Parts: sequence; C-alpha cells; structure tokens
Amino acid sequence: SKEFPTDDSVLAELLGTGKYLQAVNSVSLAIKPGETLGLVGESGSGKSTLANLVTGLHEPTDGEVRFEGDPLPTATQRDRATLSDIGMVFQNPRGSLDPRITVRKAIKEPMHAAGWSRERREERANQLMEIVNLQQSFGSRYPYELSGGQAQRVAIARAIALDPKLLVLDEPVSALDVSVQAKILNLLIELQDELDLTYLFIAHDLNVVEHIADRVAVMYLGEIMESGPTRQLFEKPSHPYTETLLSAIPEVKPGGRSDRVVLTKDPPSPVDPPSGCVFHTRCPDAGDRCAEEEPTVTEIGDAESRCHFAEEVYERG
Ligand code: SF4
Ligand code: MG
Repeated sequence: SKEFPTDDSVLAELLGTGKYLQAVNSVSLAIKPGETLGLVGESGSGKSTLANLVTGLHEPTDGEVRFEGDPLPTATQRDRATLSDIGMVFQNPRGSLDPRITVRKAIKEPMHAAGWSRERREERANQLMEIVNLQQSFGSRYPYELSGGQAQRVAIARAIALDPKLLVLDEPVSALDVSVQAKILNLLIELQDELDLTYLFIAHDLNVVEHIADRVAVMYLGEIMESGPTRQLFEKPSHPYTETLLSAIPEVKPGGRSDRVVLTKDPPSPVDPPSGCVFHTRCPDAGDRCAEEEPTVTEIGDAESRCHFAEEVYERG
C-alpha cells in the first residue's frame, strides 16, 4: 500500500488572522476565523490527506503544519492544549463511535482525556446534548441504537466538547440520507455562528459545499486546481476541472451547464501523476503545452486558478 505522495510535499499552514492552508505546488488558501473553506475533490485527490495533516493524524515528512502562526507539533509531540484547538468529524458517524460505549460516555470521553473533573464533565455533557439537539434520554443508548443522523450529532458533540477553534469536517454528510444531510448542515451552520468556529469542510462533490462554504478549493491529484469565493466558483469557474465538477451536479441551472463535458475516464494514479498540468489526461481543453508545462497560478477576480487558459475559461463561464 503506497502512501499518497502529497504526504511528502504538503505544507499546510493555519494562521490566526487570515489562517491559510498551503499545499506545495498549489495555490495558497485563506481560511479566516469564523469562515468555512470547502475542500472538494474526487477520492484519491488528497483532500483527506490534507485534513489529516491539519489534525495531526498524518505527519508530514517534508513541510509542516502551522496553526495560528506556530508550527503544529506532530501528532506524537502534541499536548492536550494543542489538540483541543482542532476537532474532527468523520464521514461514517457510527463507525467513528466505539460500539461498546454509550452516547453520554462517548461525549464525555474527550473531557476525561483532558483531565476535567467529573462534575464539569457531567455539566458539559448535558450542555452538549442540548447544543446538538439530542434528547438527554439518548445518553444511555449505544451507537447501534442510533440513526446515522443521531450518530453524527454525537460525533459533533464530541468534536466540540473541548471548545475547539477549528473543526475539520471530512465528508460529514456523505453517508447520510439526503433529508438528514440538510439537518446536519443546518446544525453545523448554527454551531459555527454560536460557537465562533472555523470550518474546513471536505466533500467529494461541489453541491454539498454550495450553501455552507464561504470559499471553495478544488483539489485534483494532490494539487489545488482552483480556489476562490463560493459564488464566483459556481457562477464563473476559471478552471476546466471545476467546470466538469459543476456539470456533474444533477439539477441544471437556468442557462445551465448541461452541454458541458462530463469526465468519463478514471483519474490517473496519484502515485505517478501526469507531467505538465496533472489534469491534462482528462481535460476537455488540453492543448499541446499542457502535457509539458506546469501551469502557474493565475489570479482571476477573487479566485486563483492553475490553468494555462484560466482567463478564457472564466470568460466563457
Ligand atoms: Fe486543461 Fe491545460 Fe488548463 Fe490543465 S492547463 S486544466 S490541461 S487547459
Ligand atoms: Mg476521504
């Protein structure tokens, strides 16, 4: 099993005033406090790797992860104070909970690990169940007795238990029914407001992030292809890959994108990425130079695009 190559090349930084994430060979991204950055890409694009670097689950072999200006200690060096600044919510809510422990115990676990007193843990657990809209009676249930949405509420309660600044949400609604997805997204939007949270929201398609993200970064084979304000990316994308992701969204908007090319070929192996522009083997707009020359970053409006023809793509948007 080969590791995704960006483990070696990703430099991720999060700064307090204009936090940003930067992956080597890609554009830099700003996550401002209180903002949501949507990170979108197909599986294998490296988005989870990036998330794991931010949360310290992976250790970069080259480069570093910064939080509020200082390099994050690697996972093994971390103390509780640093860990409590960043919470994480995973895709599979039931799988991320220990099947042998009750909801209430699961919610109290991070506080236990942080050395909180029993009294403080009980009080905070009550409060957290209220915050995520779970009846107190659910406290005695086990994960198998919960719906996917209820389990995700428990996972969110755990993630915010220690009052983090940043939540990394790795496809938090992908495994849920569509009707439940909206409820969880609304809960996350409410929590962000109430608790002053900053979100890194990872998704494999664009429509999930449309309503929650302030800015979006589109990742492909370990590189950020385009990043910018959500509205601009949806209305006037400046990268062909963003266009193809938009054309994959089922509801076609008025004046829509139904005529756009949809990707058919599988993505190349991230272990041996194509030369030049990494997207050239699937790009409907690829020209001769694309296989040879790696595109630099072009600023377009408030977005940044890594395409030789960014302006043209934006203009036709
Ligand atoms: Fe397509 Fe070329 Fe732009 Fe890459 S640089 S996205 S291959 S047009
Ligand atoms: Mg993933």
